[in-house]
Amino acid sequence: MTETRVDPLSEAERSARMAKVRGSGNKSTEGRVEAALGAAGIEGWEKHPKGVLGKPDFYFPRQGLAVFVDGCFWHGCPVCARRTPTARPEFWRGKIDENRRRDERQRRRLRRQGYHVMRVWEHDIKKGPWLARLRSMLARYESMKCSEGESMKCSEGESMKCSEGESMKCSEGE
Ligand SMILES: [Zn+2]
Repeated sequence: MTETRVDPLSEAERSARMAKVRGSGNKSTEGRVEAALGAAGIEGWEKHPKGVLGKPDFYFPRQGLAVFVDGCFWHGCPVCARRTPTARPEFWRGKIDENRRRDERQRRRLRRQGYHVMRVWEHDIKKGPWLARLRSMLARYESMKCSEGESMKCSEGESMKCSEGESMKCSEGE
């Protein structure tokens, strides 16, 4: 006789849709990053390349740098943690933990494949520092390019051969 009872799943789905508006899949978040890159004159990137694990939001093929813009809600940002809904907290915590574990797994695998990874929290986009961080990473990885036949030392002591203009891929992270 509880006709008026709200189905918890549809309630959750509705909340999920609302959360998504604030999340990283949101076009306006991505649009803001894109606009910031344009304004800063940073070029040479592509969006969601199919060939790169996790289809990073922005990818710089010359430097092998994958940039992920993480929505604070869905990726469990510690700074914005207080925004987690108070209704059904265990449901949301489960979902968010799942996302975080997937993020970590994916990024570890990317680094093992030789990519560099940078993550930007959604809440940082409106502030400036991430752009400076991106610039310095781009410059650093650009300078790691090597000439044909030259072998390079990676930080883990491993050395590898590379082709002209190819950027150096080491197994160690950022
Ligand atoms: Zn945040």
